[in-house]
Amino acid sequence: MIEMPTVLEIDSKAVKANIQYFRSKLHPETGLLVVIKAFSYGSDAVAIARLLEELKVDYLAVSYTGEGIDLQNAGIKMPIMVLHPQTACFREIIKRNMEPALYSQSTLLAFCRLLTEENRLKFPIHIKCNTGMNRLGFRENEIDNLTGLLKTYENALEVRTIFSHLTSSEDKSEREFTLQQVELFKRMSHTITRELPNRPRLHIANTAGMLNYPEARLDLVRVGIGLYGFGNSPTETAKLRNVLIL
Ligand SMILES: *Cc1c(COP(=O)(O)O)cnc(C)c1O
Repeated sequence: MIEMPTVLEIDSKAVKANIQYFRSKLHPETGLLVVIKAFSYGSDAVAIARLLEELKVDYLAVSYTGEGIDLQNAGIKMPIMVLHPQTACFREIIKRNMEPALYSQSTLLAFCRLLTEENRLKFPIHIKCNTGMNRLGFRENEIDNLTGLLKTYENALEVRTIFSHLTSSEDKSEREFTLQQVELFKRMSHTITRELPNRPRLHIANTAGMLNYPEARLDLVRVGIGLYGFGNSPTETAKLRNVLIL
């Protein structure tokens, strides 16, 4: 049996149109971070990333270090946030100037110790807060410990952004819970920021979050599925273009 290779094409005009659509919803000062999901598949993640670099989105985020390495090896120069960095990859992340999301005291401490060992200064990191039912992220009662650590390692690192994840932004019946998450996040991030020498950018909204909750847009929004043409409702989806052609 001969298997036909599946050819996946990316419609670059559609990517551009979707990015423009999201930008049209945002304040000029609100930045756009694109989460390159497993959905963009191996080498096509590179094609998408090249387009996004051309379109000057502010940040790319990947799940794992290996995905970031692939993008850098393909020549992507823009900042890459690693959402789920394994401790075993921290040295590689530092060497390559990728930017880890740190979500617990133990991961933060391990990363800071390596930064000190490698004599790195003001290395960009991102702090994840837990404002919902997700397992990962600093909780409100851990903020004192967090800010203590951030102060101890103030020279080694720079907190570029503080973020959290909305668990139910696509579900209109969870409106109250979602707004509570946004409020909790604002409170937590302001408490953290008060203790820092710089002012990190704040972000909590994914695609559905930014479409449904203008109050959740903050300094940056993180778009994943929306880039590929899926909004959170038929009306929104109709305004987006399908990006993948099989
Ligand atoms: C996947 C992901 C997003 C994007 O979510 P969409 O609903 O696809 O827009 C944003 N933030 C994080 C942390 C993610 O893992």
